Amino acid sequence: MTTTDVAQTQQPVAEGLFTWPPTADRPTRLIGSECVDCGLVSFPAAPDCVRCASANSKERLLADRGTLWTYTTQDFRPPSPPYDGPDAFEPYAVGYVELPGELLVEARLTEPDPRRLRIGQAMRLTLVPYTVRDDGTEVVTFAFTPDEESADPEEETA
Ligand SMILES: [Zn+2]
Repeated sequence: MTTTDVAQTQQPVAEGLFTWPPTADRPTRLIGSECVDCGLVSFPAAPDCVRCASANSKERLLADRGTLWTYTTQDFRPPSPPYDGPDAFEPYAVGYVELPGELLVEARLTEPDPRRLRIGQAMRLTLVPYTVRDDGTEVVTFAFTPDEESADPEEETA
């Protein structure tokens, strides 16, 4: 065996944002928190509740499917810092995805073409390359991608 296994050369962009590493029977989920006292769900996980100020929270793995609530496209390289993506910039879309009964999550979208995005579209969680470190480690981050499986028939004509 060699050490060129893909999982060995990938890293999450930050600890504690999503479950890692993903496996076939345990795909990545976002790690949020749930206030034990009032039930507010937060992402990223928050030790203190912003609604009731309780410090009583527990980890909650968020739904990996939701619907597109709103989105915008990033057509130029954002200022750096804080942006630390690759120099070669490719337009991408960011959006808020509503996880039913939980919250809105701001995330990168895999589909950069606004003509292929629409409010209310079914989306699912995925991981995408974010940047590559000097040692060759590929850094991945979470994103939402149009959920083809639950796409409605109307899209056939789009
Ligand atoms: Zn609370």
